[in-house]
Amino acid sequence: MQIHTAEFVISNSDVSKCPSEPIPEYAFIGRSNVGKSSLINMLTGRKQLAKTSGKPGKTQLINHFRINNRWFLVDLPGYGYARVSKKVKKTFQKFITDYFEKREQLVCAFVLIDIRHEPQNIDLEFMEWLGLNGIPFSIVFTKADKLKPKAAERNTQVYLAKMLEGAWEEAPPHFITSSSDGRGQEELLGYIDNINRE
Ligand code: GDP
Repeated sequence: MQIHTAEFVISNSDVSKCPSEPIPEYAFIGRSNVGKSSLINMLTGRKQLAKTSGKPGKTQLINHFRINNRWFLVDLPGYGYARVSKKVKKTFQKFITDYFEKREQLVCAFVLIDIRHEPQNIDLEFMEWLGLNGIPFSIVFTKADKLKPKAAERNTQVYLAKMLEGAWEEAPPHFITSSSDGRGQEELLGYIDNINRE
């Protein structure tokens, strides 16, 4: 898929105020600093569409972008950052769970995982929650350029095997990406395109 247009639409913390156009929607989420903003910029070929953050956890809003006038790309806040109060964490959790429970046009969530890291409970629990709520998701491994290809493949397999040890009967679709060298862009956009054509 070629990206012809990528426009920012709205930011908010209330799912009822998200855009109402009935077009398919794809949401990107992960721990702060996982490389989400960089990935969104890489996918869309826009340097500054999503702001790459200096401070983890700064963008705590649901951000909608309209792509090719055909689908929404949603940049969700990063989770798991340390420097916020419990109260902020709770409010945050509430609007994110609201988003996933209520957003009817959501087709698939992309959960970002830093390919260098061991499986972390916070991500595994989040994906389990998505599964229990019937929300389709795929895993996007980020920063693959930081590992040699074999190590990247091995970490991916270790990760998916860990999921299969848990509650999962099959591994979710996954993508190996790098915002530095553009790896995974075609596969991920092709995946979205195929769903949009169904
Ligand atoms: P976010 O907090 O999840 O939006 O993460 P950012 O996109 O702001 O990235 C966090 C840090 O990781 C920044 O210093 C980025 O330059 C770096 N980074 C993000 N993606 C990649 C990647 O694919 N490869 C490399 N080498 N660094 C990356």
